[in-house]
Amino acid sequence: MGLRRREVTAAKKVWAAALGQLQMQLPRSAFDTWLKNTAGISIEDGTLTVSVPDAFAGEWLEKRVYQMVRGAASRIANAPTEVSFIIERTAEPGPPIAAPRRPAQDAPASNGHVPNHRYSFESFVVSPCNSLSYNAAQAVAASFGRYYNPLFIYSGVGLGKTHLLNAIAHKCIERRINYSYVTSEGFTNEFITAIRQRTTEDFRCKYRSVDVLLMDDIQFMNGKEQTLEGFFHTFNDLHNANRQVVITSDKSPSAMPYLDDRFRSRFSWGLITDIQRPPLETRVAILQAKAQEMGVRADNESLTCVADQSYGSVRDLEGKFNRVVATAQMEKAPITPALARRVLQEMDGAEDLSILSPDQVIKAVQRIFKVDQADMTGSRRKREFVLARQAAMYLLRKRLKLPVARIGAILGGKNHATVVHGIKRITFELHDNGPLKDKMAAVKEELTSHLP
Ligand code: ADP
Ligand code: MG
Repeated sequence: MGLRRREVTAAKKVWAAALGQLQMQLPRSAFDTWLKNTAGISIEDGTLTVSVPDAFAGEWLEKRVYQMVRGAASRIANAPTEVSFIIERTAEPGPPIAAPRRPAQDAPASNGHVPNHRYSFESFVVSPCNSLSYNAAQAVAASFGRYYNPLFIYSGVGLGKTHLLNAIAHKCIERRINYSYVTSEGFTNEFITAIRQRTTEDFRCKYRSVDVLLMDDIQFMNGKEQTLEGFFHTFNDLHNANRQVVITSDKSPSAMPYLDDRFRSRFSWGLITDIQRPPLETRVAILQAKAQEMGVRADNESLTCVADQSYGSVRDLEGKFNRVVATAQMEKAPITPALARRVLQEMDGAEDLSILSPDQVIKAVQRIFKVDQADMTGSRRKREFVLARQAAMYLLRKRLKLPVARIGAILGGKNHATVVHGIKRITFELHDNGPLKDKMAAVKEELTSHLP
């Protein structure tokens, strides 16, 4: 039809001229990445439709430069013009990845996920406690599907798993690779909805058409048999097609008894890495980076004070530092070691654990110190057992405020002097015994998670 052809020609012309303007307004790299392979498709009722090669380009244009694009189109068309983007892959090949890409129709966006801009590889402080996971994540992002597939990263809470997954997501966007980031809770919910609405076929297509699947916190699938089965098939299909899968968890696969052996054996085809709690120097380095990012001035001595008082997760460390910064700003005072110490002291008394039962405390100590019930209440003098008992004494006294006599009784009939000595020793060692601090922090973290 003549009219239709005129429309197409007009759209092509308007967009080509708009591109000319945009080229001058945008950095070259951005223009080349996001606009070069686009074309005007039609112009109708004040809307110019433009084809983009994939969902990422569309998303980027919509989110980042829409006003600029609309302005250019409106100026050229000489009328207010909205721009809408549709995906239409041109002949231009995508980035090299292991498996051939599928046609554009079933290419999902990044599953609606927008990676947190703070969570990049550049902002991740690398040290021996996390370098294996960091390097593996980088290697994966440099060659999706080729090495370490699947990559399985595990650690306690707040040590950087989600950060690394987001860093990989940034790389996917940069390289225009189709990825999907999903938490196991999100995956479970979608799966249940799909079953209820009889759209499991769409669900399968959606996940099977991604090039990179980033699955965060797989431990929450614990006990959800059908979802695990669904994930297993998705995983297999992706893996067989050389698509990259990255999984995080709070435990290693071997410590997840509910996982099918099929999973365990498949995970071992790839690489399993962990992240340990960062030592003092790393914690200080993380705070330095954070202070710089926030644009606040803080000397190393103050940062060391904070790092010294936070031996749990990086999240805890950041939380404490934020409090120090906020207090300094409120009081219009500089950050000094004295101020840091004061704020931390105020924070420390804050968690009231007195509603927990002695049994909960002892169980947590047993788990973290890896000591069983019998040795906890027994009298064997092995160093580890003694230390675990003393840690329990300390927590029962300082946190649960139990009388010394009762503590002695709970721990298998220890006398008054033994309990008092145990508490003193822990108090003393907490000043400079790093590993002990870490363990006590882990126990405290576990106990706070029991709080209502
Ligand atoms: P997880 O997913 O393991 O529970 P997160 O990735 O959410 O932990 O990390 C918690 C916080 O700590 C985030 O703000 C993250 O940016 C920060 N963080 C963790 N590890 C590092 C690191 N090595 N360098 C910089 N920031 C870190
Ligand atoms: Mg996380």
